[in-house]
Amino acid sequence: MSDKRQKRTAIIGAGMAGLLAAVNLKKAGRDFTVFEKADSIGGTWRDNRYPGLTCDVPAHAYTYSFAPYAEWSAYHATGQEIKRYFEKVADDFGITPTIHFNSEITACHFHEASNDWQLTDAHGESHVFDIVRLSSVVVRLPSTPETPRLNDFQGSYFHSAQWEDGLALEDKNIGIIGCGSSGIQIATALTSVAKQLVHFQRSPQWIMPVQQFDYTEEEKQAFRDNPQLIDDIRYDKQYWDNIYRFNKGIINPDSPEMQMIEDICRDYLEASIQDSELREKLRPDYRAACKRLVYNWHYYDCVQKPNVFVETGSIDRVMGSGIQMKDGTFHELDILVLATGFHADKFIKPTSVIGRDGLSLDTFWTPRPSAHYAVTLPRFPNMFMLNGPTGPVGNFSLIDIAERQWGYIDQLLDIIHSGEADTVEPKISAFEDYEKRRIDAAQKTIFSSGCTSWYLDKTGVPMTWPWGYQDFVDAMHQPVISEYDIKDAS
Ligand code: NAP
Repeated sequence: MSDKRQKRTAIIGAGMAGLLAAVNLKKAGRDFTVFEKADSIGGTWRDNRYPGLTCDVPAHAYTYSFAPYAEWSAYHATGQEIKRYFEKVADDFGITPTIHFNSEITACHFHEASNDWQLTDAHGESHVFDIVRLSSVVVRLPSTPETPRLNDFQGSYFHSAQWEDGLALEDKNIGIIGCGSSGIQIATALTSVAKQLVHFQRSPQWIMPVQQFDYTEEEKQAFRDNPQLIDDIRYDKQYWDNIYRFNKGIINPDSPEMQMIEDICRDYLEASIQDSELREKLRPDYRAACKRLVYNWHYYDCVQKPNVFVETGSIDRVMGSGIQMKDGTFHELDILVLATGFHADKFIKPTSVIGRDGLSLDTFWTPRPSAHYAVTLPRFPNMFMLNGPTGPVGNFSLIDIAERQWGYIDQLLDIIHSGEADTVEPKISAFEDYEKRRIDAAQKTIFSSGCTSWYLDKTGVPMTWPWGYQDFVDAMHQPVISEYDIKDAS
């Protein structure tokens, strides 16, 4: 017989997805605890504080459907604003007092005899739960370059996700290594304050031009008075047409949609950069959207300012006062920003997770991280992820993705909470079938078209959802129960 007492859920992490889970569990009257390693909420939006940080998904689309927000200051919101929004949601829904701050969960072990999870926190304390929502973040662990003698640098240097607060930037010589979404946003923001800015570019990026504008006080008042206006933006046809066009393009590199994306990016480069030498420096030699497409509205303007230099040569070594290039050029620097990305395959690091039969998640995720439909793991019962490996990533709203994933997970949780079963986990055969089909399809996407990027696992296979966005929406509508092992304790 299944155990009928109220089941307890541990939510690891109070970022966007953890908060989403907490609000939904609270609304359903479930027993849950949130563990947060830091002393405040916000996850990625708490850790990343670099100048220019802006979410490149429109603010009203990067908003929980259950908590529309009339106060966004602009079409694309800044990182600080987004963090404040999450804090407000946590307060409004009564989540903040329930969060255990400074409580990093370092280990999760499944106990077969009692069908529960034992969690250990960084203070060595143990906690027992029936259900675990793992925190899975693709851009969590900073990756720093193995540039020779980086430690010799006598100015300030740090990773983009570890910004040195209070650092004076005015009239400084600033170097930025990396041209992903982070490096381009930082460079754009710092051109107006730096004395000289050197953008070290190993590979150029295709840029999709997007609009940006501030909302006026009148517009915000209109949003407050009539929330339908917010929905009009969130469900705006043009925005969703772009999502579906982008998705069709990435899953079929030969499609007219992909051709259109490439044309827009190329035309934007041609029309924006006046100097032909700089234009060629900024022209990628791989297809648009092979790396995560950068959505931006003013990098090309900023990079043409006289105090900016795009360095495409090879770095020889870092010295006390700057960077020595292999061609003999020396760039004198006061500040060096490493916008060099993340270890994208370390979704849940450093937490150690052990499921049935002593199977560790590290072993299960060799050679690549994956999860059944990106949310559940065979042999890890009652364990769920939002925005886990193989979900849609890239230029989509991760909030929309997480909400749809929650819809799927919630139906599995109902089976547990109703007392119908003690444990739910995907069948190995179902997962293997999913993974085989996924890998096959992923190898046909634009991400496999011949560039390096954090989308690729160690074997070169994209770790992403390789089918249509509508396929994802349909898959998340309802779990296929026959793909799950549903067990009670008897
Ligand atoms: P990223 O996209 O992985 O870019 C890292 C950059 O650093 C690349 O230009 C890479 O060059 C360069 N690099 C890495 N190691 C290097 C080395 N040893 N020497 C020289 N260059 C090196 O990382 P990111 O810009 O931090 O962005 C990561 C993800 O975070 C994004 O793709 C996105 O999903 C998310 N993000 C989102 C937003 C948003 O607005 N929504 C904003 C920022 C970030 P190569 O290309 O040659 O490898």
